Amino acid sequence: MRLLLAGLLTAVAFAPLHAAEEKGAPARPIAIAVHGGAGTISREELTAEQEKAIHATLREALEQGHAILREGGSSLDAVTAAVKVLEDSPLFNAGKGAVFNCAGINELDAAIMDGSTMNAGAVAGLKQTKNPIELARLVMEQSPHVLLIGEGAESFGRQHNIAMVDPAYFQTPERRRQLDEVQKREGVVGCGEEQVVEDFDEDRYGTVGAVALDAGGNLAAATSTGGMTNKRFGRVGDVPIIGAGTYADNATAAISATGHGEYFIRAVAAHDIAARMAYGGLSLAEAANEVVMKKLKDMGGGGGVIAVDGKGNIVMPFNTSGMYRGYIDVKGETKTAIFAE
Ligand code: ASP
Repeated sequence: MRLLLAGLLTAVAFAPLHAAEEKGAPARPIAIAVHGGAGTISREELTAEQEKAIHATLREALEQGHAILREGGSSLDAVTAAVKVLEDSPLFNAGKGAVFNCAGINELDAAIMDGSTMNAGAVAGLKQTKNPIELARLVMEQSPHVLLIGEGAESFGRQHNIAMVDPAYFQTPERRRQLDEVQKREGVVGCGEEQVVEDFDEDRYGTVGAVALDAGGNLAAATSTGGMTNKRFGRVGDVPIIGAGTYADNATAAISATGHGEYFIRAVAAHDIAARMAYGGLSLAEAANEVVMKKLKDMGGGGGVIAVDGKGNIVMPFNTSGMYRGYIDVKGETKTAIFAE
């Protein structure tokens, strides 16, 4: 009898879902997008193997995030998982493979935001945290603060058993070569009095980010970076500045940026996209295009964003020659791309 009752209850509980699925209507939309940085990316500079590896890693990040969403997991968990895949890959400028500052050291920034609560966590100037996005999330969930920097951030991470690594873990020969090249070109080895950080559109791409919509209708955004090659030590970019490089609000969109951070900070770029939607009634595509292709471009700020709204619409505008990017949309279609197409 009890079994029969349980069976009946189960049938009732799942009936509406099955009915919706039978009609071909997606029960509740889920979507995820990732980026691996924008900048001057020329086909000549990338070997076929490198291109293949970049597509495969973007896909892996998307699939890990999407699996969480499919199982009913949160957008926060999905963006954290996706960004971790990209941080762990030496191909991107975040975690392992981060760019060097003028002193030949990796200093890492990251941020995460929950669009359902508007809670946010961010970290800057990390030197030993294996996955900066995990520490950003910890700041959001386990501290009363939004932004922790340097030693204070890492001591907080240690208290919570976040994985730490020797700074050599982050270093790759390719990023060292990029630093040497810039310093040679500028004629200043090390940190000069007037630090030169060249135009963004110069071999500097690789920051990573993810945005997602979960089945509960919640949006989240996460971004992680080593910043810009030859940056002055102590420099903090747009990534951990909430509203500049990272922003999420269920009422509008989740946005993760990549580009010349100083411009994104001055333009309050990510929040400006959300604000144009909220106050101006613009669609996500219109708002993101205005900010990336007009406002930032006119200011001289090279870069792009990935963004998703509450319906699962995904946009990925960029004003540079390329942006590593990909998505799995509400229909389950997967796409990854590098150049403008
Ligand atoms: N936005 C990052 C920064 O300025 C760099 C990047 O996106 O590649 O730190």
